[in-house]
Formats: sequence, structure tokens, C-alpha cells
Amino acid sequence: MNIILFGPPGAGKGTQAEKLVSHFNIPHLSTGNIFRANIKKQTPLGKKVKAILDDGNLVPDETVVAIVADELQKDEYINGVVLDGFPRTVAQAKALDHFFSGNGSGIDAFVTLSVPEEELISRILSRGQGRSDDTPEKIKTRLKVYRNETEPVLNHYKKQGLVKEIDGVGSIGEIFDRILDALN
Ligand code: ADP
Repeated sequence: MNIILFGPPGAGKGTQAEKLVSHFNIPHLSTGNIFRANIKKQTPLGKKVKAILDDGNLVPDETVVAIVADELQKDEYINGVVLDGFPRTVAQAKALDHFFSGNGSGIDAFVTLSVPEEELISRILSRGQGRSDDTPEKIKTRLKVYRNETEPVLNHYKKQGLVKEIDGVGSIGEIFDRILDALN
């Protein structure tokens, strides 16, 4: 089963992804986590993307698509994946569609979490993970990038009839139950 978790920064994608992973026993693929791990280890990729993440901008499509395609070829994803933070542009979505059609699989559900903007900002500021992009100024940039470059991905998948829109306000358990209901 291939599930995409979608939504603005602070919507709770990472949290719900972890719950889906243990529920369905399929692996989690978070492009943000991959980049942060590479930055921490100071790999060539980490050095290349650090300033981009710090500024709240998007890593170039070619870079992200190459990483995801490479990763999804691994055996551990044979039964599916919970994608979190990817695709984030229409070009990435098209590349993903192409990848799945090439290996005879496809997206089973595209779950989008809706949360009002004021709540997103207060959640990010209070989560205290020490992320260098969790400052008021960088959050503003990330929300703007989301609206301009990422939100159009929603329409791309609406046209394919795959979108499940979930109210992302409530307790972690409540939101997870809504997601499970929508997947059934
Ligand atoms: P959030 O959704 O809270 O912004 P993520 O961990 O998903 O957090 O992403 C953090 C940052 O990593 C993004 O602001 C961006 O710089 C980079 N990034 C993650 N995924 C992608 C992607 N698919 N395309 C481009 N950049 C990405």
C-alpha cells in the first residue's frame, strides 16, 4: 500500500506517518528527515542542501526525485510506503506517478491534513525541536512556499480522485482515527 501524507508545515504529517507505519507495517519515507540526517552527518548532500533548508526553501526537484527513486527501489519498500514531505511540487508528483507506473504499482491514497494557519504557526513554535527553520521568519517563508509550490499538488491528485481530506485539528488519536476511516 502506497500512502502519501500531505499538508502544510506543522500539520502533523510526521506524527501521523509514524502511526500509519506501525498500523500497516510499511516503512516511512520522509524527505525532510533524509535531508536533516545528511546535514547532521555533513555528507555532500547535507552540505548541498543545508542553506536551502535553513532558509525554508525547497531542494531542487532533480535532487529530491533522484533520492526518492533510489530509495523506493530498495526491497524494504516492496509492500509499500508512507511518503511524508514528498511530492512537494507538481513536477515531483509527475515523477512519482511515472515511477509507480513503471513498476506496476500506484498511489492508494493521498491524505491531506487541514489545519488553520494560526494553529500551524503556534504548533511549530511550541514543538521545540530546535530546528533552524522553526523561527517565525522561516515559518512564514515555508508557508508561502507551501501555498505557491506545494498546494497545486493537491489539484493534481484531485484530478485522479485520490484525495482524502482530513481535519487535522484534534488529538493525535482522533486525527489518526479519521485517517483510518478515510482509508477504509
Ligand atoms: P515541514 O513539512 O515541517 O516543513 P519537512 O521535514 O517535510 O518539514 O521539510 C523540511 C524541509 O526539507 C523543507 O522546508 C525543504 O527545504 C526540504 N524538503 C523536504 N522535502 C522536500 C521535497 N519533497 N522537495 C523539496 N524540498 C524538500
